[in-house]
Order: sequence, then structure tokens, then C-alpha cells
Amino acid sequence: MPPITGKTKLLGVIGYPVGHSLSPVMHNAALQAMASDYAYAAFPIAPEDLTIAIAGLGASGVQGLSVTIPHKQAVMPLLTQITETARQVGAVNTLWWDGHGWQGTNTDVEGFLAPLLELKQDWSGRTTVILGYGGAARAVVVGLTQLGCPEIIVVGRSQEKLAQFANSWTDPKIKQALQVLPWEALSTVIPKASLLINSTPVGMAPYPKQSPLDQSLVEKLPPTAIAYDLIYTPRPTRFLQHAQERGLVTIDGAEMLVQQGAAALKIWLQREVPVDVMRQALLHHLEKSA
Ligand code: NAP
Repeated sequence: MPPITGKTKLLGVIGYPVGHSLSPVMHNAALQAMASDYAYAAFPIAPEDLTIAIAGLGASGVQGLSVTIPHKQAVMPLLTQITETARQVGAVNTLWWDGHGWQGTNTDVEGFLAPLLELKQDWSGRTTVILGYGGAARAVVVGLTQLGCPEIIVVGRSQEKLAQFANSWTDPKIKQALQVLPWEALSTVIPKASLLINSTPVGMAPYPKQSPLDQSLVEKLPPTAIAYDLIYTPRPTRFLQHAQERGLVTIDGAEMLVQQGAAALKIWLQREVPVDVMRQALLHHLEKSA
């Protein structure tokens, strides 16, 4: 990275807390490799300060922001424009300053899809099962619809929240593909799943011994199924370990994290970005802190 001067442009991440964010590691590695005159910082912004902070960051010449918990939905009314993808997901994770205000999108969808697109499979006629109905599951549902999955089954433990999730969509394609089912239905739906996605935090550090699924349920997946865990630490999770023991194709959350970041950086810099540098920086950091 060139030395910071009076001309250096600023990017960053807003969240609360935000010290744990891996975005500065990935983005600064890429900016350095690109010899870009940008720096990427973390801004801890308490929820009650969001309105003033977002206006202030824009007025201070910050060019782009990543958005993390708890601001992904709360910041939306403060934006001048949001993309259709962000509207569908109901949350933004990437903002850019357009000279007058902040525009927003959601690159989690692109990040989630990237490793699946690498597999070059035909998703028409496939059944996918998602565990959990939180923020990440929303990006997954939008992504799977973009992929053309005709049957998307979301499984969760609260009947009330499942109904809320089902009723929250307006897109006819999503409404047609989406089914919500209680956890008890898993033994029936798993044998027909081409793709099983964990979007719950179960199995994440500091509880690496947990899995959202009993091994006996992983055993019921078809031999050609893909097991995808959005968790990126530990690598692999217990769920993915069980899937690997079965010889299934597995994907963990690290690539989604890298690719959502790369998609954001591409928006901010309007040029190709070194995804491999971002991946290496993230994996190195995760290994060091494991
Ligand atoms: P969230 O909004 O809090 O949603 C979590 C979901 O998991 C909820 O549906 C919750 O259901 C369910 N859940 C929690 N504990 C459960 C349990 N013991 N059994 C069954 N369901 C349970 O979280 P999120 O933002 O969607 O994130 C979910 C996971 O994805 C996290 O591990 C996060 O790190 C990961 N993630 C990864 C990326 C990436 O780039 N790789 C991006 C986003 C998220 P209840 O409401 O019923 O508790």
C-alpha cells in the first residue's frame, strides 16, 4: 500500500462491536497488492449513533462501507438507493457514496453463490434444504432462486418464526419455490436434498463439537449431495467433518466471506480485484487465530 497521505481515500466497516471483523485483513491485503491509494478501517458505531455516523462518514469523504451486525437492516432507511437484491434479502452489507448519498446492496448473495457456480451444476429439478431462517438464510434463499432451484426447503425450530419467514417474501419466484418445515421434518426431506446448507451458528467456535444435525441424518443425504456450512471457524465444522467422512462434496463459509468482500471491493474500486490475495490473507489470519 502506498504511504497514507492527504490524498488517500478511505473505506471501512461499520458494526457494533466491530473489532472481530475480518474485513480489514482481507481488504487491506487486496489494496496493498493493487498498490491502491486507499485504506480500509473499522468504525464501531453504537446503534443510537447510526444516523449521525453515516451522514458524517459520507460528509468526510469515505468512499465505501461494509455493514455488519447490528446495522444491516437499520441503515436501509438512511440510504438514497438500494439494489433489487438487497431489497429482496431485506438487508445491505455494502454501501458506496455516490456524491450525494449512500447507495446499498447485498453482496452476501454473490458470495454464497460463488463456490456453487464453480461446481458448474444444473440446479433445475434440485431440492435444497436450509437449516435456520436468520439473516444469512435470507441471502441463501435469494441466491438459490437466482440459481434456478425449484424447491427450497427452510427448516427451523420455531413454528412462529418459520411462518414469519415464509410470509416475508413478495417475489413470486421465491414464493413458489419456498417451503418452510419444522425441524422434525428433516429425516423426511434430507434423503432428497441435493444441497444441504447450515445457516445456523451451531458448530461455530467456541462450540466446535456441536453440529446442527445428528450424524445419522448426515448419513441419509444422497451420495451426490453437497454439504455447505456458512460457518468459517472452525474449518471444517463438525457437520462438514461428518459429510467428508461420507465422501460428500463440502463447502465452508470462508469462500463466501472472501467472495462477498471481493464483490464489494469491485464496486468501490470499479476494477478487477485480487480474490486470491484476499483468500490467502483471510485463511492465514484464521489459521493464526485457531
Ligand atoms: P441469525 O440471523 O442470528 O440466525 C441464526 C439462525 O439459526 C436462526 O434461524 C436461529 O433460529 C437458528 N438457530 C440458532 N441456534 C439454533 C439451534 N440450536 N438449533 C436450530 N436453529 C438454531 O444469524 P445469521 O446472521 O443468519 O448467521 C448464521 C450463521 O451464518 C453464523 O454462523 C454466521 O457466522 C454465518 N454467516 C456466514 C457468512 C459468511 O460469509 N460465511 C455470512 C453470514 C453469516 P432461532 O431464531 O429459532 O434461534
